[in-house]
Amino acid sequence: MKIHVVSDRRLYQGFPLFGSGAPVSPFGLAPFSVSSGVRVVCKVASSAIAMHPFPMRQIVPIISKSPRNTRSSPPRSNSPATKRAGCRACVGPTGETAWAEPLRGLNLPRQKTTVPLKPYYRVRTTLFVDSSRRLVNERKRGDMSKEMAQSRPISRRGFLEGTALAGALVATGSLAGCTPGDDEEEESLASTAPEEQVFVNSCHGNCGRNCAWDVTVRDGYIVNCAPHQYNDDPTNRHRGGCWKGFLNINRVYDADRLKYPMKRVNSKEEEPEWEQISWDEAIEMLCATWQGIIDEVGPTGFALHHVYGSSALLSGNGGGCWGKLIGALGADTVLTGADMATIWAMSMDSAVCAAAPDSLRDAETIVFWGVNAAETRWVNWRYACEARQDHGCKLIAIDPNSTVTALHSDQHITIKPATDGALILSIIQQTFENGWEDEEFLRQRSCAPYLVKEDGTLLRGTDLGEAAPADGAPSPIYVWDETAQAAKPIAETPDANNLALSGVFEVNGMTVRTALDALKERASLYTPEYAEDITGVPASTIRELTDTLAHTKSAIMKDNGYAHYANSVHTALGLDAVMMVLGNLGKPGCGVYYWYGGGPTNAEWGVAAAPGPSIPDSQLLHVVETGELGGAPIPLRGMLSYAGNIVGSTVDRNAIEAALKQLEFLCVVEIRMTDACKYADLLLPACHWWERDDIIGSGLSTPYLRIAEKATEPQFESLSDYEICRRVAEGMGVAEFFQGDDRAQLAALLDSDANRDKGCTYADLQEKKAIRMVEDGQLDPADGSFATENGRVNFLIDRPMVYGGWNAGIDPLDFNLPDFVDNAEVSENHPLAAKYPLIFMTPHTKYGTQTTFHHAAFLHEILEEPEIHINSTDAAARNVADGDYLRLFNDRGEVVAKVKLNDGIMPGVVVMYHGWAEQYFKKGHYQRLSSFDNTDKFSNNSAYFDVRVEAERYEGE
Ligand code: SF4
Repeated sequence: MKIHVVSDRRLYQGFPLFGSGAPVSPFGLAPFSVSSGVRVVCKVASSAIAMHPFPMRQIVPIISKSPRNTRSSPPRSNSPATKRAGCRACVGPTGETAWAEPLRGLNLPRQKTTVPLKPYYRVRTTLFVDSSRRLVNERKRGDMSKEMAQSRPISRRGFLEGTALAGALVATGSLAGCTPGDDEEEESLASTAPEEQVFVNSCHGNCGRNCAWDVTVRDGYIVNCAPHQYNDDPTNRHRGGCWKGFLNINRVYDADRLKYPMKRVNSKEEEPEWEQISWDEAIEMLCATWQGIIDEVGPTGFALHHVYGSSALLSGNGGGCWGKLIGALGADTVLTGADMATIWAMSMDSAVCAAAPDSLRDAETIVFWGVNAAETRWVNWRYACEARQDHGCKLIAIDPNSTVTALHSDQHITIKPATDGALILSIIQQTFENGWEDEEFLRQRSCAPYLVKEDGTLLRGTDLGEAAPADGAPSPIYVWDETAQAAKPIAETPDANNLALSGVFEVNGMTVRTALDALKERASLYTPEYAEDITGVPASTIRELTDTLAHTKSAIMKDNGYAHYANSVHTALGLDAVMMVLGNLGKPGCGVYYWYGGGPTNAEWGVAAAPGPSIPDSQLLHVVETGELGGAPIPLRGMLSYAGNIVGSTVDRNAIEAALKQLEFLCVVEIRMTDACKYADLLLPACHWWERDDIIGSGLSTPYLRIAEKATEPQFESLSDYEICRRVAEGMGVAEFFQGDDRAQLAALLDSDANRDKGCTYADLQEKKAIRMVEDGQLDPADGSFATENGRVNFLIDRPMVYGGWNAGIDPLDFNLPDFVDNAEVSENHPLAAKYPLIFMTPHTKYGTQTTFHHAAFLHEILEEPEIHINSTDAAARNVADGDYLRLFNDRGEVVAKVKLNDGIMPGVVVMYHGWAEQYFKKGHYQRLSSFDNTDKFSNNSAYFDVRVEAERYEGE
């Protein structure tokens, strides 16, 4: 049986197939399940279906042989908009052919936009495609010409026949007009031809899901991809991916790929111009500069920076080969502030997390708190829909805006931005007032009975004159033993029933009380009526919400929407505390869902040498300008940025650009041109994920350790991150840490006794492709003991630490309990509220992962350019209608984009989806409006949404 799905823009721009009466997307589950025996043929495989955010079990891209779709069909690139984009792509501003040649002639419009695109850079070299479609380098470099000439030609036939970019062709118009009834003429790419090979790799950017994909290669080209099916997952619980996974093919063959190393040849104050150099020259330039800085000011004069552009274990962000290089050379690390409130709160209070997200299927209530899961965390949304379908689980969205998640939840609670902390404290207050707290959980598994001194820290043995443990372990925490009527170390009070949960006690002349009483007191002010005043959430709703959470198996799925304000870490601590007070942790269907997992890597694989200091990205400009941080000297002069677009993904673009311009040297390692590349002195082309070998840890929502197999040779001169590190290490004299090739390092990475015993070595992975690390339904903690001191979960943090070790003059003890602090710029009480009455939010969307996919032609077929979503009341007040252009501005900057009327947006709020590069805007950029001044100083959390603006009609060109 073959089902044709014909889709158009309305399908994915509206949500007609996903009403509350249809809890499961028709794209997501049974009807499309491979195991159901139904074969789904999406005419689109494309923008339309693939843009739909829900999990796809099988999408079979189709190439139609209808005349419309043959080579002679009129290319959509004839449209004026596309012509402009194509010109921009293929020809540099001075007339040189630039970087788009590989796809030139294929009539694939790169961007369809009404906004004239700005050039990224000029290349002082000329490449073109000759009649045999081979790349030829006109520049004198013989070696380069030879290599480029040897690179595979991309034929139109090969491209058309052999790619899941059938979707791209639909998107670009080559297949536009496909209609049902072409069965006989269709050639499905799903059938694997004998000469095809399938490799297992994954989509591992900052989405966090890291879906495994089977990547089909024919004649050296990636021609198709499909979500990988795990051997021990007969119901396909863990199989799946979204349209962005398909777009990785587009990314591999992206016209904006960095092809070869390039050095900048003009000032950073000008539009960049580049000169192609060899890898040897590039490595020599980088190492000579880096070594020169070390010789002059020491190893802390150079830093490495990353965001989360690759979560592979070897060539990924964070640790891996780059972490090794940092350790070997004592370099600094520039820490991204993205999402840090959530991560840091979990780090301090034991990473409260209910483990396997599939246990969400047991929940009776799921609250999506500041997360548009239906579009950005689809696997959790799938489980939530299954729970609703199976046993009527209630879905509640708490969000200022009518997101897709909110629209399809059973209840949408709108809340004023940055007031979540007050709502959380009110839920806690109501819990205590009604006696709904889980006393047993609090007594036996939480910090509730710990004794707290008047300064807010815990009573420990050292406070009572005991010597600190010789082994460096923390001094014992004291509790009040009701039977003995005395303070005792908790280890000496094994019967939890003896632990006092409430009371004020005198111990050695000190007045102490329990941690639970400290939390109760903190929450006591926040009656529902008081909280209503702050949050806009009706008191009756708060009471009803608390009742529901307390009397059902409830879970909170949090992401970072609530956490993009100056007061975010308090909110993060509060969300965890709600579940602790209710005892909804470590039970099926309960918990706070965020991340889990990791890789069972060999702990001895890294480099033990001490890395340099950590620099929060919010402090980068300060460090560059002053050479110090918190009084400690950091003579930062050079930086290498990898796995992330620091200019596009970070708040306060103005500050970041200023810092990058002032750095003496910036090297950017990237797959394609980004906004960050514009400030580089040296550009190094990195492989796409599917062009290198690696390992993917079990991560958010995916309980398998997985192999990432190199599916195709690297395009042009790009190298894997590991190989780049290896060459740099050689040049810097630390080659001993980088012996062998990528596979040798991967074998070493998993080479431990434990892994050998578990059958979890690289050889095992090569054979099995995926090894399960977390059982379905596994709870965290599996043994009932949380990974904290005493195995208890903490809502009171005894020794709160400022993230990155940088103390901005704040008292860490102000952050030891959940709180609501009215310090956000978006607060109604902020001095800027009158001057800039609109709150500007830039949430994530199904259209992209950070800045990764926003250049895709697929996307531009349905979303031509950035849009400002605005309530019709606010729009009318500014005399703008749908399709007009609006200028948002504040004292920091401006951005101009098209108006999209959207009454799902709260009055007083304007929204633009995150991820667009500067070239797509008529004027300015949305991150010029945000500021590091609003960063949460404790966790260094970036305040993406803590932005006030005014808006006016834009009349310019
Ligand atoms: S973007 Fe996320 S959900 Fe989509 S395919 Fe990639 S990893 Fe999977």
